[in-house]
Amino acid sequence: MPDTTGAEFALPHELAEEKKAKWQVQRERLAASSFYRQHHVDAPLQLPATLEGIGELPFTDKEDLRRDQATHPPFGSYLAGGLESVSRLHRTSGTTGQAMNIALSAHDARLQAEVAGRAQSAAGLGPGDTVVHCLNYQLWMGGLTDHLGLEATGAMVVPFGTGATELLIRTIRELGINAISCTPSYPARLAEVLDEHFPDIEPKSLGLRKAFMGGEPGLDDPVFRGRLYDVWGMRAMNSNYGVSDFLCNFAGQCTEQNDLHFMATDVAQAELVVPGEDTVVPWEAGSEGELVLTHLDRECQPLLRFRTGDLVRLTATERCTCGRGAPRFRVIGRTDEMIVVRGVNAFPSVVAAAVNACPELNGEYRIRLSHPPPYDRLPLEVELAQGHEASDTLCDALNKRLGDTLRLGLALTVLASGTLVRTEGKTRRLIKEYA
Ligand SMILES: [Zn+2]
Repeated sequence: MPDTTGAEFALPHELAEEKKAKWQVQRERLAASSFYRQHHVDAPLQLPATLEGIGELPFTDKEDLRRDQATHPPFGSYLAGGLESVSRLHRTSGTTGQAMNIALSAHDARLQAEVAGRAQSAAGLGPGDTVVHCLNYQLWMGGLTDHLGLEATGAMVVPFGTGATELLIRTIRELGINAISCTPSYPARLAEVLDEHFPDIEPKSLGLRKAFMGGEPGLDDPVFRGRLYDVWGMRAMNSNYGVSDFLCNFAGQCTEQNDLHFMATDVAQAELVVPGEDTVVPWEAGSEGELVLTHLDRECQPLLRFRTGDLVRLTATERCTCGRGAPRFRVIGRTDEMIVVRGVNAFPSVVAAAVNACPELNGEYRIRLSHPPPYDRLPLEVELAQGHEASDTLCDALNKRLGDTLRLGLALTVLASGTLVRTEGKTRRLIKEYA
């Protein structure tokens, strides 16, 4: 019998008392933080006794944290506890600016693993599985911290990291590994190495049957998943959605449906807010807004009303057929990745779905922006699938697919298979080439 005692199985109202008690402790931590005391000089932080009151408090965003770390290195004055409370340090990749230092106490680290384990378990990982973890262990949370989340499911976890793809293929074969944890773009690289160095091995015969992924748009597209299943015989699950400053992995789909369960219901307060504004959107099925998160049980670097920059749609709040009471949502896109073309909002995830639906293409694409907005047409680079050639009908088909959903015009560049650079880490599909 699977364990159904975790917080993710409770309905939100069943956790109210527990959350209330946690907030009493958490507000003391926040009140002791010089960062929050100074965050709004004009309106000193008055921490409400109940969670219902937090909607009146100021937001915190990434820029606030960046500035604070720059003036109070290494962890910022929002560290809350003393340096001796930190038992693990991670750094974020810093691809969008200054690298950030993340501090976890032993308690914080245990909690991260527990919540991440809920997400990976829901996606079908557990005792009896052997999963190889192929994310970067160097500084980044996706390595060690995600590894411990995988372990929390009871599965056997093989720490591999990135690179050395030939060794990975030999390791998978020798150990009978049946599951992989990696970025959605990594199987394409794995297939290239297989083709080049192990021409006798079919991807399917490698034995991978489950894939646990996250972190890139396009993963939720059924065509992308269908392609992985056809080529590898493995089911791809979106089991790893997180915000490194908040919790490394706090949402994932279950085996019953494709939306993400919010797995941190007992340790976080979530809100939806209109992007770029302060208006709170009601927390009910069908609502859309920027995800704003407050820690309820965090010792180091507690966050209060943190604007994640992720635009989400809440899809369901009733109990799922899998038994979990945790609400479900979909990630629509990043508020900073929204491209406005002739008044229409486009996100890379929508483009991914259109590209994946073209059988002449292999699914790789980049949106390369050479100048600041406004854009008259969406500049899109795609790669042909092996054995296919560029044609007028291909361009028409893509135009029609994006046109039907978004009424977008395209500036399309069709490239030969393998032209776009493949990476082992997170692939940036939206590239801004201007300062
Ligand atoms: Zn479910």
